Amino acid sequence: MCSRGCLTLLTFLSFCNVNLATTIIPPKDINELFQHSEFVVFGEVKAHHDDFGTINKFRVLESFKGAVNKNSTILIKEASTQTASEWLSVSGDVNFAIGEKYLLFLFKDGKGYYRPRLQALSVFQEIEKDGELILARTEKILDLCFMGDIDESLLGSYKSNQFRQQLKSNKIAYKKAGFKSFDYSTNRIQQIAVNKTSSCAIPAHCTTLIGDPFNLNTFCNISAGALSPAKYPSNTHLEIKVANTASDDPSTSLEFTYLEDAIQTLNNIDGISISLASPLVQDCNTTGCSEVATVTNNICNPNDLPVIWVYFDDPCDELADLSPSCNGIVGTGGTFAKIPCITDQCGNQWLEAKSSYIFLNSDAGCLSGYQYTALIIHELLHSYNLDHIGGSCTALMNGSLCNSDFVNNVPDFGIRNLDVECIEWMYNQCRDNEQINNTTFQGGNADQYFTVNEITTTDVIIESNADVRFEAGTFIQLNPEFEIEAGAIFNGLINGCTL
Ligand SMILES: [Zn+2]
Repeated sequence: MCSRGCLTLLTFLSFCNVNLATTIIPPKDINELFQHSEFVVFGEVKAHHDDFGTINKFRVLESFKGAVNKNSTILIKEASTQTASEWLSVSGDVNFAIGEKYLLFLFKDGKGYYRPRLQALSVFQEIEKDGELILARTEKILDLCFMGDIDESLLGSYKSNQFRQQLKSNKIAYKKAGFKSFDYSTNRIQQIAVNKTSSCAIPAHCTTLIGDPFNLNTFCNISAGALSPAKYPSNTHLEIKVANTASDDPSTSLEFTYLEDAIQTLNNIDGISISLASPLVQDCNTTGCSEVATVTNNICNPNDLPVIWVYFDDPCDELADLSPSCNGIVGTGGTFAKIPCITDQCGNQWLEAKSSYIFLNSDAGCLSGYQYTALIIHELLHSYNLDHIGGSCTALMNGSLCNSDFVNNVPDFGIRNLDVECIEWMYNQCRDNEQINNTTFQGGNADQYFTVNEITTTDVIIESNADVRFEAGTFIQLNPEFEIEAGAIFNGLINGCTL
């Protein structure tokens, strides 16, 4: 959709940047994906239809389902959007490339565009591997959130000819269609590289949304700032508002109860301060809208208040329905951020998040109350710009919301220590006091400690070439032994923690 070049250009305009995460209830298997898709086609992207390549001219070479003729050209819309002043990036959305061939499972949205039914889960790209044409998954599949387990027929790749032959007979016996499993998890970047330790060190399992993690803590000039991670300033209080024209989920009468439970649970995490606005439902007209992201920024929150807008019932008709079997995209959310980026006390650099939104599909009430609430919390934690945590059933922010927890109704809707550690690192790093005993700071490392009140040490050695900094709000007490070797750097400052 966008090269580094166009990003750089945009940063000189009134620039607004948002990254969304999408949660999918997977279909039972590849056959059900076929059954629930309005159109299934194979073809080639011939050209872009807009200036930024988020709408694509797609030449149909084979049509397996739906009234789309062979050799016709249809417009495929990506979920990501770009205009001269906005860049809305959707995690898990495939960026179609001109000249590439794809097999697509599609629906038609409210504006008449064709869209992949389940973002990357409904897109196969034809590539050559070991001298053979296969229909492969793109790496974007790694960015989707799933509720529950995914059948293996939906993952991996297929032999292109065999799979298309099976589709022609409307029969996908998937192993006969040349299915090959593939472990994408080895390709995934799970960690942000930060060279610092002590109170500045990010827990290794945490990742943040927006931007290239490798740019964290490297530079903060304007063009690179657009690629930095984002977060709200610490101590920001966020209010939840529900748009008046999208305040009813027709599939449940309990949507407000679920929202209240989610907010109450989130407020128990140190560093998060969030409440329901009074009144909760406020004016925001979504009538005739084409994207919730655009409505949020232009109509609901034009003044960048620290607000998270919530929309029920897919108000802009951007998603395929979940019925009849409760699968499809169930919810999505995002956060707007602004440049320039800011540098915190640890030297980490962030775009400043300014507001967020989430929206839920119609029929989301097919989830249990526990699942519905857990989903809202998961999306809201994305709004705080926490990204997925690797693993299965170890955190609410696992890419797959844990299925077994639904049965057990575990406390706090599945929030675990791993989730809390990441939020605390992002929003609550200031410890009251720090006691450092029997510690050797080694050469070549930079270590920093920040506290609201005191830092006390006993038996500390700072080796040659080490760089150590203590900042405390009231006092620093260095008890014996405290040894600084020649060539080491030590700074001690009275300065309250503001992380
Ligand atoms: Zn997610």
